[in-house]
Amino acid sequence: MRIGGLQKLTLLDFPEHVACTVFTWGCNLRCPYCHNSSLVLSDRIHEEGLMGEDEFFGFLRKRQGLLDGVAITGGEPLIQPDIMEFIRKIRDLGYLVKLDTNGSFPEKLRGILDEHLVDYVAMDIKSDLDGYAEATGVKDPPVDKIRESIDLLKNSGIPFEFRTTVIDELHNTEVMAAIADLIEGADRYFLQRFEDSGELIEEGRFHAPSEEKLMELLKVVRTKVPNASIRGGEIIKE
Ligand code: SF4
Repeated sequence: MRIGGLQKLTLLDFPEHVACTVFTWGCNLRCPYCHNSSLVLSDRIHEEGLMGEDEFFGFLRKRQGLLDGVAITGGEPLIQPDIMEFIRKIRDLGYLVKLDTNGSFPEKLRGILDEHLVDYVAMDIKSDLDGYAEATGVKDPPVDKIRESIDLLKNSGIPFEFRTTVIDELHNTEVMAAIADLIEGADRYFLQRFEDSGELIEEGRFHAPSEEKLMELLKVVRTKVPNASIRGGEIIKE
């Protein structure tokens, strides 16, 4: 397991839980607006964030009774060969688990869901499927696998959310309408306004949408996903 960092306390990453967030290192995609480039590109690794499993599980043992959950994010956690064993070890210590994924590995996701190893899953929807190559920075993105992961989650019975980081240059009403078609039937869908972390894979190319545009996109999405909302923002009631 390649651990690229640990946030010792989060009240936001795992809904309704007091958790820590563990960052796995490595990803199959290269989203140009990725704000965690140090977890994706080997020439940007933060050596000080790297952590052995023993240290991580030692931390979890010390926090038993204080934290109730572990959010696993990346990078892309499912790229790790031993992810299932890693999650089992976390659960054996009594923690609930939230998993973030980009949806590229439905075979692994299926195994994790079948074994009820996670209590919540958050899956990124980068764009409509036609826009995945531009949004993910890879020539041949695994769109069939993305679609398969969407269907798996919808039919899993395990709480999940879809979420899209909205970028002015990538997302318009047509794209959002196509995303809404793709995830129709989902209970939770969040639009997250892009923010420049200062550590993007490609600096200076992308910008946040205006509040007005974000609201317009939310209205489009809500025609198919009525509970969609803006994370951290006001919900339009109409
Ligand atoms: S934003 Fe894209 S490149 Fe960055 S970790 Fe997520 S899927 Fe990987």
